[in-house]
Amino acid sequence: MVSVATLGSHCALQVLKGAKDEGFKTILVCEKKREKLYRRFKFIDELIIVEKFSDILNQEIQDKLKQQDAILIPHGTLIAQMSSEEIESINTPVFGNKWILRWESDREMKEKLMREAALPMPKPVTDPKDIEKLVIVKRQGAAGGKGYFMAANEEDYNTKRNQLISEGVISKDETLYIQEYAAGVLAYLQFFYSPLTNELEFFGVDQRHESDIEGLGRIPSEQQLKSKKVPSFNVIGNSPLVLRESLLDEVYTMAENFVKASAKLVPPGMNGPFCIEGVYDENAQFSAFEFSARIVAGTNIFMNGSPYTTLIFDEPMSMGRRIAREIKEADTNNQLKNITT
Ligand code: AMP
Repeated sequence: MVSVATLGSHCALQVLKGAKDEGFKTILVCEKKREKLYRRFKFIDELIIVEKFSDILNQEIQDKLKQQDAILIPHGTLIAQMSSEEIESINTPVFGNKWILRWESDREMKEKLMREAALPMPKPVTDPKDIEKLVIVKRQGAAGGKGYFMAANEEDYNTKRNQLISEGVISKDETLYIQEYAAGVLAYLQFFYSPLTNELEFFGVDQRHESDIEGLGRIPSEQQLKSKKVPSFNVIGNSPLVLRESLLDEVYTMAENFVKASAKLVPPGMNGPFCIEGVYDENAQFSAFEFSARIVAGTNIFMNGSPYTTLIFDEPMSMGRRIAREIKEADTNNQLKNITT
C-alpha cells in the first residue's frame, strides 16, 4: 500500500488529514524547528525530521520514503525552497507533473504557457524605460509577494529597486519581472484535473490578504503619502469568495484551455490541483497575472469542502482529500504511473 508524504509547511495539515481520511499512512518531512507544531496532529503517522527541506534529496531520506512506497505531494514551500533542478531530481514519485513546476517558477516560461492557454493577461513590460502606466514589479519563483513593489515610471522603479537592494530585500543581480498593474477584485481560482477521468473540477475561490499593501488602505492618505516604506505583498492568510454565477462558464473555459495548453507544452500536462490567479475589472473581465501548478494554500479555507465542491461531491471534500482519492483510485486500477512523475 502506498503512503502519502509532504513537507511540513504551506498546506501539509490539509493534505495529510485528507490522506488519512482516505485510509493512507501519512508521512511529514519536517524541519526540526516545526516538530512541536506538527506533533500536535494525530493524523500524522510519521515525522521524518530534517535540518532543512532540501535534505529530502539525501539518499537516506529518499530510501526511507521508498521503503514506504511514498508519493510526495508538492506545494508552494517545495518550489520556494528548492531549485527546479533539485525538484526534478527527486526520486520519490511526485503527485501530478513535477516538470510543470519549472514553468511556474520561471517568469518567461510562465508567460509562454499562459499565452498558449489564451489567458487574458496584464501586459508585461520588458524594459523599465517603457513603464507608462502603474506597474507591479515581481521576483522570480514563489516568493509569496515579498519584495514586490509598484512603480509609476522608470525613475520611481529605480528609486524603489535601489531602496529594496539597500535594505537587503532583493539582490542587485536579480532579474525582476514587470507587469502592468490590474485594478479590480482579486480572485484565485482553484481547480483539480483528473487524468483518470479526464474531468476538470472547479474547487473554490479565495482571496489573499497581503501585508503590508492591505494595511495601507487602512490609514489616511496623509500618512500614506508620508510613508517612505516600499509596501510589500507578503501573503498572511486567505479568505473565501463566491463568484457571480454568470462568471462560472468562463472560469471553466479558462481552466480547460490551461489544461490543453499544458498537455501540449509540458507532458503529461496539468494533472491534479492548480490555480489561476487574477483580477476582475469593472466590466467583470478577468486578467490572469499568475498560475500555480500545484495545490495552493488558499485551499486550506475549504478543509471541509467549499460551496463548489458541495455541487460535485456528496461528502466534505478538501483538495487534500481529493488528491488522496485520486491516488486511491489510481492504485486500485494500477494507474499510479499516470498520476505521478
Ligand atoms: P503573484 O506572485 O504574481 O501571485 O503576485 C503576488 C500578489 O501581487 C498578488 O496576490 C496580487 O495581490 C498582486 N499582483 C500580482 N500581479 C498583479 C497585477 N498584474 N495587477 C494587480 N495586482 C497584482
